Amino acid sequence: MEHKFQFYNTLTRRMETVIPHEEGKIAMYTCGPTVYHYAHIGNLRSYIMEDVLEKSLRYIGYDVKRVMNITDVGHLSSDADTGEDKMLKGAKREHKTVMEIAKFYTDAFFLDCEKLNIKRPDVVEPATNCIPDFIHMIEVLLEKGYAYTAGGNVYFDTAKLNDYFVFSSQSEKELLVGVRDDVEEDANKKNKNDFVLWFTRSKFEDQALKWDSPWGVGYPGWHIECSCISIRHLGEYMDIHCGGVDNIFPHHTNEIAQSESYLGHKWCGYWFHVNHLNDKSGKMSKSGGDFLTVSLLQEKGYDPMVYRMFCLQSHYRKPLEFSYDVMDNMKAAYTKLKKKIAELKKEGQTNPEVFARYKDKFMDAVSNDLNTSMAITILYDLLKEDCSDMTKWELICDFDRVLSLGLTAQEEKQQDRDVDEETKSYILAKIQERASAKKQKDFAKADAIRDELQEKGILIKDTREGVVWEMKK
Ligand code: AMP
Ligand code: ZN
Repeated sequence: MEHKFQFYNTLTRRMETVIPHEEGKIAMYTCGPTVYHYAHIGNLRSYIMEDVLEKSLRYIGYDVKRVMNITDVGHLSSDADTGEDKMLKGAKREHKTVMEIAKFYTDAFFLDCEKLNIKRPDVVEPATNCIPDFIHMIEVLLEKGYAYTAGGNVYFDTAKLNDYFVFSSQSEKELLVGVRDDVEEDANKKNKNDFVLWFTRSKFEDQALKWDSPWGVGYPGWHIECSCISIRHLGEYMDIHCGGVDNIFPHHTNEIAQSESYLGHKWCGYWFHVNHLNDKSGKMSKSGGDFLTVSLLQEKGYDPMVYRMFCLQSHYRKPLEFSYDVMDNMKAAYTKLKKKIAELKKEGQTNPEVFARYKDKFMDAVSNDLNTSMAITILYDLLKEDCSDMTKWELICDFDRVLSLGLTAQEEKQQDRDVDEETKSYILAKIQERASAKKQKDFAKADAIRDELQEKGILIKDTREGVVWEMKK
């Protein structure tokens, strides 16, 4: 690899150069959404920055395989294994079944991702698809003595580990603050931090989804799904695991406990955490009732690209405060930037020296702890550079592979000219078919059409100007 990629590894608490398990390849896992409601723009900040991380790694030459789970069972209202299953809460709220809720909000999530130019991970796996994997891992953990049954449930025994708090030197007491808002101690637990792997004696008689298991009919805990899904698709060694900072404890801590006890060796070397988007009153949450969505921003006149740019202008490790004033400034800046780019005359020669110099600077910025605001500054510097418009245009097309700010819409038109008429009319018919599926809220069909095109090397994107397509490079 010509370029090294370094970022702040939460596990070692220092900046580190990524050395993947297999040379040239990165196995990457992202904790997916809990699909009981729309994603708020805070959740989407995490997914935007993880998208930039994936694209930066690809940009510098890594072959990335990225897996994401969909949490459609087992995530309770409190991270301390108490409270109601969030999915059930969503179903009750909308008088629908849990699976209807899961499908609706999974589709809604990917629609938001499309609007924000967030690439769909290579593998997307709902937790409810993997129940036998969870049961198998829990069986092994019991066999190895890392788990116990009590009161009908199966628990992970944290006392069996030498170092349970792998992420932090903070005291146990400190870590538990904030996690246990609505604490209801579970008398079955041997140790306070033990967590549920499999519930049978849920206090919710009406838990909708239940499966047979060696421990009785029940459902899995939240943490086990990410351990199993990542190992199923990425194998025993993972390179980079991502999530928002709230996932560090207990979710990621528990994932490590389970996976390493199951595998018998170290599992994931690098942990990437995105700090929160806050509003003036504090952290955004889905359960809080009122929350900001991409659709709401669109209704208020903000292109989703403006929100993406807002996120890229700040560093992913810093908390970010949302305000409409800043969004207004960002909207003006984005419009101006697009205009400047549109005015470039796509003529003349590309200057190879300038091209290489700027590409290098850009690579340095993104591969230095994902310095996206620096990457955007380089883009502005380029626009002022004394070089041909063609050089600028080609570099901007190149940078936008990572930034994905929709700066290259006209490039797609160029591609449009390069494709034969038959293929073009096939693509347009498929786009049409997808639009009517979406209108009828048949998002599964719409997704299937997009996937079918993708398989043929055709990528489609929803933009304010309509659906655009491009051939995969
Ligand atoms: P959830 O759907 O609640 O499982 O969360 C999905 C992702 O969003 C997780 O990676 C969370 O860590 C992340 N997240 C939750 N709240 C915020 C926030 N306010 N800002 C940024 N990321 C968040
Ligand atoms: Zn997870």
